[in-house]
Amino acid sequence: MIEDNNKILLCSDCFKDEGLKLDSFQIGIDDNTECPNCKSSNGKKLSILIILLLCRRYFSHGTFTKTEYGGAPLIEFNEQHYKKSNIDVSSWLIDDIKLLEETAKVGFFILVQDYGCLVKLNLYNHYRIKIRLIIL
Ligand SMILES: [Zn+2]
Repeated sequence: MIEDNNKILLCSDCFKDEGLKLDSFQIGIDDNTECPNCKSSNGKKLSILIILLLCRRYFSHGTFTKTEYGGAPLIEFNEQHYKKSNIDVSSWLIDDIKLLEETAKVGFFILVQDYGCLVKLNLYNHYRIKIRLIIL
């Protein structure tokens, strides 16, 4: 658990993925100090609370799927899955996910894995998510 909720840990320039850059720029803090991770002074700064909000918006809300009786996100994250992430993402997201995992000490996982199928997710931008289901 991170002790100081207001400490700046990352910034919007830390990410390679355009969706994560844009989303973090929207919700980040306007602050010209140097980022402790990438050393940029132009990016909007992110505390642990903003990083968790970013994960919630980008992964949980971004993969929410409506069903006949409601809906659920395809990807979730929590501290219990730290170092146990099992999502398979596009190559340009791999480093961003590692950065989020290590900074927030969380792991990302697929909620529908218990249905006996392997879900391969290609998150190719914030709003268009290609999902390939392979029945085992
Ligand atoms: Zn940065």
